[in-house]
Amino acid sequence: MIAAVVEEPGRIATKELDDPRPAAGDEVVIRVMASGICGTDVHIYRGEYIGGYPVTPGHEFSGVVEAVGSSVTRFSAGDRVAVEPNISCERCDACRSNRQNFCENWQAVGVTRPGGMAQLVTAPEKVVFHVGDIPFEQAAFMEPLSCVVHGVENAGVTLGDRVAVIGTGPIGMLLIRTARAWGAGRFSVADLSEERLAAARADGADAATTDLSSLPDDSFDLVIDATGAPPVLSETVRLARPGGRILMFGVAPQGKTAAVEPFQIFRKGLALFGAYTSRRNSRQALELIRSGRVRVDDLVSHRLPLENLETGIRTVESRRENAMKVMIFPNGDRHR
Ligand SMILES: [Zn+2]
Ligand SMILES: [Zn+2]
Repeated sequence: MIAAVVEEPGRIATKELDDPRPAAGDEVVIRVMASGICGTDVHIYRGEYIGGYPVTPGHEFSGVVEAVGSSVTRFSAGDRVAVEPNISCERCDACRSNRQNFCENWQAVGVTRPGGMAQLVTAPEKVVFHVGDIPFEQAAFMEPLSCVVHGVENAGVTLGDRVAVIGTGPIGMLLIRTARAWGAGRFSVADLSEERLAAARADGADAATTDLSSLPDDSFDLVIDATGAPPVLSETVRLARPGGRILMFGVAPQGKTAAVEPFQIFRKGLALFGAYTSRRNSRQALELIRSGRVRVDDLVSHRLPLENLETGIRTVESRRENAMKVMIFPNGDRHR
């Protein structure tokens, strides 16, 4: 099979490797049909993430079951599936207290083991999901949407909430749509890109601006940072209404700090939420996609073959050509 390998930070090679087999009895081998590039893949490419090298990235993918291990019972060759990349041990203290996303023995497809930027990939049966007739490209959104569902569940949405979302890339748009499906009211959004704001407006955002400082103080029940830019933190505190909630969803660079005025958090009684990966939210994500409650198909801006993964990562990194989700098709895009 052909696989893309990040051999060391900044260097990707497309290589012919042996076809993977279902090593353990519970493994499923999947022919990857659509594989989305995530910000995490950009971090892996730059050498800014957990895990070692060489590694085949890709943790947002869907495909067709090619082969199954001897103990697999829920899948057989030909099934259409998507994978939840995080693999928890179910034995450690975190797992045994329903915090599987903080598993002490965490493994992840596309981070600590070979991922979906390849023609074939393996995953244990317990993280594989049937996707039925959802198109492959949409099913590849199961993972990012599951993280979004987890984040919105953490912060909570109350019927009619006024929401501010900072950053309207693919994740910001999924956050808006998920919060709306949950019953949020009006949305104000900010982004540096006019094109992204136009898309957010067309999607129903009530106010959209490139000037974050123009959004009014103390006005939002829920403020979501989907940028990961450290200076945004103080803006979220400013925007939240007294008794409001803040969701830090974007991945900030590790080790960087941000200035905030703690008195404002105290005086306004704010609640601040983080959201690390997901906690078995994939079934919810698939139902939201299948029902059309959260639309994903319009978020794909680029479609590329596996050989162009590096170009795709650079496109996401630089946001050039109005990049939103860049989708890779390791086995061709005839059946996307
Ligand atoms: Zn991701
Ligand atoms: Zn564990």
